[in-house]
Amino acid sequence: MTRKAYDRWKIEANQFNRATVFYVECNCGKLAQKKYQQSYFECGTCQRKYVLQQGQYVELKN
Ligand SMILES: [Zn+2]
Repeated sequence: MTRKAYDRWKIEANQFNRATVFYVECNCGKLAQKKYQQSYFECGTCQRKYVLQQGQYVELKN
């Protein structure tokens, strides 16, 4: 299932509105925020990181 993604105003982004994604849903239930000038998203609660791979937001494993 596709991970939910949201724009800056926490409106769900999808293939129809093509919003600029600013948050992605984290596995912990919070939102991971886009890091400034970085290509990944990081959750402030659990520090998981996510990257866009082949159109999907996937957890970045260290
Ligand atoms: Zn998290």
